[in-house]
This record gives sequence, structure tokens and C-alpha cells, in this order.
Amino acid sequence: MGLSKRVAVFSLGGTISSTGDSAAGVTPTLTGEDLVRDVPQISGVAEVSATSFRQMSSGELTLDDLVELAAEIEAAFASGASGAVVTQGTDTIEETGFALDLLLDREEPVVVTGAMRNPTLPGADGPANLLAAVQVAVSGAARGLGALVVINDEVHAARFVRKTHTQSPATFRSEPAGPVGWLAEGRVRIVQRPVGRRHIPVSVEYTARPVALYTASLGDDGRVLPELPGLGYGGLVVEAMGGGHVPEAVADRLELLAAQMPVVLSSRTGSGDVLRKTYGFPGSEIDLIGRGLIPSGTLDGLKARMLLSLLLRAGTGPDEIRSAFCEGFG
Ligand code: ASP
Repeated sequence: MGLSKRVAVFSLGGTISSTGDSAAGVTPTLTGEDLVRDVPQISGVAEVSATSFRQMSSGELTLDDLVELAAEIEAAFASGASGAVVTQGTDTIEETGFALDLLLDREEPVVVTGAMRNPTLPGADGPANLLAAVQVAVSGAARGLGALVVINDEVHAARFVRKTHTQSPATFRSEPAGPVGWLAEGRVRIVQRPVGRRHIPVSVEYTARPVALYTASLGDDGRVLPELPGLGYGGLVVEAMGGGHVPEAVADRLELLAAQMPVVLSSRTGSGDVLRKTYGFPGSEIDLIGRGLIPSGTLDGLKARMLLSLLLRAGTGPDEIRSAFCEGFG
């Protein structure tokens, strides 16, 4: 008798699929079919179809790829899949996972996974991560949570997760919320459900409007900022210091930019809400918001950039962009 749950696996490359010799370095070579075949235990969990969607280092992925991937995942659900698993490089999972979270509005679990140790190394974590991802993809408890990142037996909401270590298999963290659940002996335990998801319908026909990401740093005056409109950028996310602060010289430049494009204020700290009403010095969050910047709420710079990129791509107007950040994630 066949298994009742079907899971569609889409492989995009990354360490989980990388092989080669140690001198030249590993590169993405294994297909989705190879990855699934290497984990025989998967056949006891679900009926799995594997598609090699891309085969690249995850830094090469584009927003176009993700919009196309979201459409393929929708199609898999329409033809009866109970869940979807995406395997890819871990370098950009915090961005791709959040993009899928925004692009898809489905109950079925969408689980992104990868590996920190490639298949040629002792202790390669890809097979265990793939099995766990399939287990989460068929779990009733994981339905309706939005896109998830499953690695190292932890289940993270894509909207919170960040890569925090260059090599550790425990690299993924969700500050300040913590993982939404974990796996124990193959059982999926979900202990919290994030509220306030947002859906941004974007089709492949929409054209991209690039969004720049700028990190404020000690002694920098932001002289690169006035160049952005001429370079074709349609928006900017600032990773400000602390609760949302920049030097005064940078604030002057940001004010000029905010009159021309959406400029979002996030924090370079990596956790916590951007402040709105505490500090009053020039370049403080009160000053910057008064000059037209949009506070990113709980979103860090990379996630704020992803949200703004998709909003611009969907042709969203200035008021709606502001409310997407202030009400959706604020
Ligand atoms: N360079 C790889 C990638 O992101 C790293 C990884 O998969 O962990 O594609």
C-alpha cells in the first residue's frame, strides 16, 4: 500500500549537494534525485518526488528564481502534495526562506533545508537534515506556520531565522523568538506559532527594482548614498547602529534619499525591535523617522530588504509600503 502523504523536493544546490576532491574544493553536483536516494529512511515517511530546480551556490540565486520556485511549489500543492522541501545552500537561507514565506499563502508546510558539512566529510549533516525536513513537511502541526527552516533537528520560522556561524551545524538561530519547534526521534514538536504573516503576490511578469543594503559604521559619512538613485536602485535598507542610529552626516544624506525612494531603518545588531520614540539626538531613530525613514519593526536588514524588494516588485505604493513594515512587522 502506498504512503498517503506526498512531498515535493526541489533541490537548488549548495553544500548539501556539493562533492569533489579536497584540493580543488567541492561544488554543487548532486541532483535532487541523488539527495533523496541517499536517505532510504525517507521512503518510510512519504512518497517523494525530486526536482533539480537549480544547481548552484546559494549566493547565485536571484529573486526571479524564487518567484519561479514559488510558482512550482504552488503547482505541486495543486496536484496533491502535502508539503514541499527546498534544499539549498545555507548562505542565503535566511533570505530565500523569508521570500517563500511572503510569496506563498498556503497551509501546506514549505520547509527549506541545507547542510553545513558537505557529503565528502565525516559527520555530513545533509541526510539527517533532509529526512527531518520531510518529516516536518508531512506534519499536521507544521501546517499554517509559513515557510520553515529545518536544520540540526530544529524548526525555525523563516521570518526570524538567521545564519550566525560560518561552520557550526548549529548555525541557525531565531532571535529573540527561538525556534518554533524541534524534532525528537523523528517526531515533530511545534511549541509556538508566529502571528501576523503577510502575503505578497508577485508573478514572474513583474520587473525587479533593486534595493540597496547599507550598514552604518563608526566614522563613515555615507558618501556612497547619493549615488544610489543614479545606479538604478529603487529603495534602500539601512542597518543602523543599535536601536536605529546613524552619524548626523549620514542622517542628512538619508533624508535626501527618503524624498526619492523608500528608505527603511533596521538595526545592525541582529535582534530586537527598531526603536521609535526613545532618543532625540540628530541621527537618532526619532530624528530619522521624522526625516521620512520607515522603521523595520522586528525585521533585520536582510529580511527588510527582501520585504521591500518584493513590495516594489509588486508595484506597491509608498503608503502601503510604510504600513507593511509598521503594521505587518512593527
Ligand atoms: N556556499 C554554500 C551555499 O550557500 C554554503 C552552504 O551551502 O552552506 O551555497
